[in-house]
Parts: sequence; structure tokens; C-alpha cells
Amino acid sequence: MSAQHFDVIVIGQGIAGLTAARQARQQGASVACIEEQMFGGLVININELDGSIEGSGTDLASNLMLEASEAGVTMLSECVTGIDTADGRLIVSTDQGSHNAAAVIVASGAKLRKLGVPGEAEFEYRGVASCADCDGPMYQGADVVVVGGGDSALQEALVLAQFCRQVHLVHHGKELTAHKQLIAAVRANQKIVEVSPFEVTAIRGDKGVEHVDLVNCNDRSTSEIACSGIFAYIGLEPTSGFAPEAVRDADSGLIVVDASLQTAMPGLYAAGAVRAGYGGMLEHAMADGEAAARAAVAHALSKG
Ligand SMILES: Cc1cc2nc3c(=O)[nH]c(=O)nc-3n(C[C@H](O)[C@H](O)[C@H](O)COP(=O)(O)OP(=O)(O)OC[C@H]3O[C@@H](n4cnc5c(N)ncnc54)[C@H](O)[C@@H]3O)c2cc1C
Repeated sequence: MSAQHFDVIVIGQGIAGLTAARQARQQGASVACIEEQMFGGLVININELDGSIEGSGTDLASNLMLEASEAGVTMLSECVTGIDTADGRLIVSTDQGSHNAAAVIVASGAKLRKLGVPGEAEFEYRGVASCADCDGPMYQGADVVVVGGGDSALQEALVLAQFCRQVHLVHHGKELTAHKQLIAAVRANQKIVEVSPFEVTAIRGDKGVEHVDLVNCNDRSTSEIACSGIFAYIGLEPTSGFAPEAVRDADSGLIVVDASLQTAMPGLYAAGAVRAGYGGMLEHAMADGEAAARAAVAHALSKG
């Protein structure tokens, strides 16, 4: 495929990326927005959003996708593999070729962190799951384990409680870290039982998940929960492996930006869950997308 030239390239069609692409295009720039999977990112399957943005993740992402497309953003289905510079332009390499732009916004977000225990990979799609709204109906009347004590874990435990006989909410901290309303909703729900302070050490079964092994974080005693499914929400890992090492934090992998969301590489910006200092909610993803777009368009115009 021959290289395509744009004022601004946005990497990722999650909420940050779609917002950035729409905004940059509305400011008159030529814009491409590249996505390796389906548009929408982390919230595409969330039926009921929590926080200041109401409705479903699917509706939010679909509306943004429509608005960005109607504004004239070029949507590309490719996987970005690298970013480089040549002759004052930024070169974005993908699995299908390369494109270049005066400015690039990395909005490649994050992926759910794995537990890293035996059985997790073996039972993926056979009881190890991550989308309560998509997979919940398959666990009608069954017992499941949800791992984590933050907003995502509690939000998903509440969804699963609509289908399951019992949801075992396993977390290793002394306290749940989710916000108060979610904690209150979980504690008022008879189907959700808190199991803490415990960590999952293994997932066992035959054709599918049958047991989850636990260790008590205080006295190291072991126990098990009989269940058909396990959903882990223990944090996110940035999807930044394709970005130059010089713009990534060595420990976290998050992309480091200044107040204008520009990285150490001139013309390269980052927005949303992939960047250090991200606020964590959709409203922050959208604010990031708009701010990065404004800065990236100004940079692109200054280059003529
Ligand atoms: C289970 C869960 C529930 C949540 N619920 C809520 C909620 O109710 N309310 C709320 O405010 N927040 C919620 N959040 C947080 C919210 O989802 C995130 O803050 C927000 O979606 C981040 O958006 P993003 O665009 O930065 O990243 P992402 O949503 O991760 O989007 C990044 C996109 O980039 C693509 N991409 C990655 N790498 C490449 C590549 N190499 N090439 C091309 N494309 C690439 C990905 O496929 C993805 O589509 C939730 C998070 C989780 C995990």
C-alpha cells in the first residue's frame, strides 16, 4: 500500500481517539484514525456507564464514530507497529504499510491486566472471561468469581449478579477502593459476597473452569471456591509497545506528556488511558482527546 499523507494521525478508535479525530477534523485538518480491532475500546460492551456520562458505552462510541466519519476522518483498519521521524514528519508504520503526518496523537488506551496464574490462559473463553455484559447470560444460575476491589470490578460484579446465583468478590486489600455509591450497591446486593483479603493462585477445571484456588494474604492459609467463571479487573496495562522508548515511562509503559499532552518527540501527543497522569474516566478521555487535537492541529499548521 502506498504511503498516505495527513495533517494529523490518531492511533486508536477508543473514546479518546475518536474525540481527538473528530475535533482535529472539525478544525480543518486532514485526519486519519487507525484501529486494529473494533472501534470503541474498553467501553464498547458496557451497557450502563458509571460516572458523569450516562447511557451505554456502545451508544457513546457509535455516536462518536458516526460524528468523526461524517466530519471526514479517514478510518483505517490496521495495527500500528511503530512511530518514527523522517524529514520533519512523523511516520506511522502499520501491519499494512506506512502513513505520515505532521502530528500524531497516540490514543491506544490500555488492556485489562492478567492475573498471571496457572489455568488463566488454558481456560480463556472456557470460564475465564472479562466482559460481564457480553458473557453474563452464559452464567445464569451459576457461581462466578470477580477479582478486584476497584470501580470496574464492582461495576461488573453488579452486572453479573443479575444473572448468577452467587458472585464471589475476591480482593486482596483491607478495603474496597471503588467509589462509595458502588460499594453501597454491592453491599446491598444479597448475591454478592466479599472474600478478602485473598489472592487467586490458580484456576482449575476440566472442560471448563470448576475451581479457583485462593491464599489468605494475612496468614497464607489456602482455600478454594467452586465456580464456573472468573472475571478479573485488577487494573490496566497501557498499550504502548509500538511507541518510541524515549516517550515511554520505563516502569509503567505509560506515555509521558507535558501540560499540552505533547511527548518528548515534537509533534507526538498522547491522550487517554495510554498516558501518565490520565484521570481514569470517560470524561477525562474526551477532555484529553479535545486538548490533544487542539495542540496537534496547531503544531501541524505551524509546519505548513
Ligand atoms: C471494565 C471497565 C469498565 C469501565 N466503566 C467505565 C464507566 O462506566 N465510566 C467511565 O467513565 N469509565 C469507565 N471505564 C474507564 C474507561 O473505559 C476508560 O477510561 C476509557 O475507555 C479509556 O479510553 P481510551 O480511548 O483512552 O482507551 P481504550 O478504550 O483502551 O481505546 C484504545 C483503542 O486503541 C486501539 N489500539 C490499541 N493498540 C493499537 C494499535 N497498535 N494499533 C491500532 N489501534 C490500537 C484499541 O484496540 C482500542 O480500541 C471502565 C473501564 C473498564 C476496564
